[in-house]
Amino acid sequence: MLIMLHSSLVNKASSKRVPYGLMFHHFHGGIHRADGAGSLSQNNLDVLLEHAGINNILTPNDWISAFLADELSPSHRCLTFDDGLKSQIDVALPVLQKYGLKAFWFICSAPYHDEYPQLDLFRKFRYQHFDTIEDYYHEFFGRFGGVSIQSNESFKSWYKMMSATYPFYSKNDLIYRYIRDVLLSPSEYTELVETMIRSHGLSVTDLATNLWLTESDLRSLHEEGHMLGLHSDNHPTCLSKLDELHQRNQYSKNAAFIQTLSGQPISMAHPCNSYNKTTLSILAELGVKIGFRSNMTQLNYINSYYNNLQCPRADAVNILRHNCQS
Ligand SMILES: [Zn+2]
Repeated sequence: MLIMLHSSLVNKASSKRVPYGLMFHHFHGGIHRADGAGSLSQNNLDVLLEHAGINNILTPNDWISAFLADELSPSHRCLTFDDGLKSQIDVALPVLQKYGLKAFWFICSAPYHDEYPQLDLFRKFRYQHFDTIEDYYHEFFGRFGGVSIQSNESFKSWYKMMSATYPFYSKNDLIYRYIRDVLLSPSEYTELVETMIRSHGLSVTDLATNLWLTESDLRSLHEEGHMLGLHSDNHPTCLSKLDELHQRNQYSKNAAFIQTLSGQPISMAHPCNSYNKTTLSILAELGVKIGFRSNMTQLNYINSYYNNLQCPRADAVNILRHNCQS
């Protein structure tokens, strides 16, 4: 029955006349530096919550119940925090507590068995250890061997699709992601960035300090009534490219970890919006009832197939830039 529920939800999502989740990642304040790539302050979060309407924001359990009963209204929102970052509880949690709001927290398990997910680790390196992101791109593109991909036809169509879906990315942001996700293999990308990290006199362990929530932080969130959900084991940027065995490994490891903290996980968000039919089947087998995408478009959406695992979300950074300018 779940498969067919809300088949029209994402079809209408681009019009934003549908309920959707608000997606949060990075925050700055205190020891957490602003990173110039859309990190939010406490004040930004306040503005965003008021824009959504505090009374429209449902708790995770209420959101799931209303979704499954087809009782969400277009103005309903839920709050979702991805990647389990320390800045989220240091900066954002006090604001949630002020309003008595509860959120979904989508957690990768790798940091808790000392295999740090690269995505946020490398992001911290490029935004916090260079004067500007353009300085990072200059070094990265140079080490890659120069960029001559802009006249490439497959790059042009990929660029058109991505810039429409993620309008807040600059041209170099997208060229970087094209090199990372399309041109390089995961191991080639890792090798290239780790070489850069070492050449700046840093180590992966240095970068991991104060980046992720501790297990104790996660237990506290659960005890306060927040919901912990899945986000893969180590956050591959292209999970859909993995075969079934490796996809299953990503989510079963992740589910086993969340289970030890808060019981059977029933929610998830797709890392980098990357999934396919195999992913959705695995998540359903694991008992996940609700899954979130990372945009409001139909990019990669699989029609009439586990629609409950493909709920739309709007990036809070994008909303702030376009609807909350004061
Ligand atoms: Zn993520």
